[in-house]
Amino acid sequence: MATQPHSRKRVCYYYDSDIGNYYYGQGHPMKPHRIRMTHNLLLNYGLYRKMEIYRPHKATAEEMTKFHSDDYIRFLRSIRPDNMAEYNKQMQRFNVGEDCPVFDGLYEFCQLSAGGSVAAAVKLNKQASEICINWGGGLHHAKKSEASGFCYVNDIVLGILELLKYHQRVLYIDIDVHHGDGVEEAFYTTDRVMTVSFHKYGEYFPGTGDLRDIGAGKGKYYAVNIPLRDGMDDEAYESIFVPIISKVMETFQPSAVVLQCGADSLTGDRLGCFNLTVKGHGKCVEFVKKYNLPFMMVGGGGYTIRNVSRAWTYETSVALGVEIANELPYNDYFEYFGPDFKLHISPSNMANQNTPEYLEKIKTRLFENLRMLPHAPGVQVQAIPEDAINEESDNEDKVDKDERLPQKDLDKRIVPDNEFSDSEDEGEGGRRDNRSYKGRKRPRLDKTENKESEEKPKEEVKADKAPLEQENR
Ligand SMILES: [Zn+2]
Repeated sequence: MATQPHSRKRVCYYYDSDIGNYYYGQGHPMKPHRIRMTHNLLLNYGLYRKMEIYRPHKATAEEMTKFHSDDYIRFLRSIRPDNMAEYNKQMQRFNVGEDCPVFDGLYEFCQLSAGGSVAAAVKLNKQASEICINWGGGLHHAKKSEASGFCYVNDIVLGILELLKYHQRVLYIDIDVHHGDGVEEAFYTTDRVMTVSFHKYGEYFPGTGDLRDIGAGKGKYYAVNIPLRDGMDDEAYESIFVPIISKVMETFQPSAVVLQCGADSLTGDRLGCFNLTVKGHGKCVEFVKKYNLPFMMVGGGGYTIRNVSRAWTYETSVALGVEIANELPYNDYFEYFGPDFKLHISPSNMANQNTPEYLEKIKTRLFENLRMLPHAPGVQVQAIPEDAINEESDNEDKVDKDERLPQKDLDKRIVPDNEFSDSEDEGEGGRRDNRSYKGRKRPRLDKTENKESEEKPKEEVKADKAPLEQENR
């Protein structure tokens, strides 16, 4: 496959300035604030001048039930901190309450996260952009009818379903430290989506992602799992990522790629156990980008938030093909980045328990599986379903267009605002991930299940909180 190392790409970036205000609760490691930190850092690096920035629409219930069950989405729409008592039974059924708490604005948070990934897919489908970024997405653990691992709505599955309207084969790659179980499960029985997950395996959340889990039915050999041990460093990661992704590209030949850039695989993560630097993590982005395929990048885990924002800022620069200085520019959250105030981070001295022999063994096994794929799979022609977002529509009642932020307003946004403290992010906050769900059996997605009928949701008209322009291209 042709690769072009230094090509410039049209990059679209999805961000809503409200996202940083959603709060999972005191002591909870998932902090949407990290997305605002990322945004502010990349603004202050000047990266906004080189990409189109959109405020995503809020995904509707109708959009979300393309994957999720109607009753689960109806529940997410209804539940609030002040009416939880009425929903006791359903909270258990949908696994909401503990790791996935009810918080103010939970549903809107899901709408924005999902809206960004769906909009990104539509943009790529229209060939209006080569790379689309949604750091508010990447919530790979969410299941059809169940929240899991801090994720409620699986924006990735929704994005991939949208890509499948135009693309015969979509590749999903997951470099979060946790197994991308929700995405794998959704596409476990199809040959149109290959899921490739690199993750810590063994006594670790969510407990799935064994080397021998390879897909089922038509999807056999289309799920690829790379189970890893503690201490993965940059060199070891590259030694397995590059050959496996190369082989996957060669045999699967996708026409679009989604990369989940979970940053909990970085060294020093509050919940993670790998030892990657920002550069090592970013190399995965660089490598995938070289294939010049329509490319969606989403966020995911990441619990030492100063490093999450470093990594996602750096990866935005990689997407843009722009070099940025190691010296951090002044930004609203500058004090988080002390004592060095640098972009790049150093690995720790932790031992890498993934020996070259172990990694070689995994690679050999996976190559054997990939050899079972039909080479150069045939392309079926089919009718293209309607886009999730019809941007040509001039129906002003539908406020589901993504709004482009004009540059003059972005310039104004490089200003301080008040922020939560990073203190919870420090220290050994307890590895919540080991606490629950160990080895839980995965429920299989029943693709043939009929959806209950549901009345169409009435979406609220979004109040403009900032001067915005409608996209008119
Ligand atoms: Zn994770």
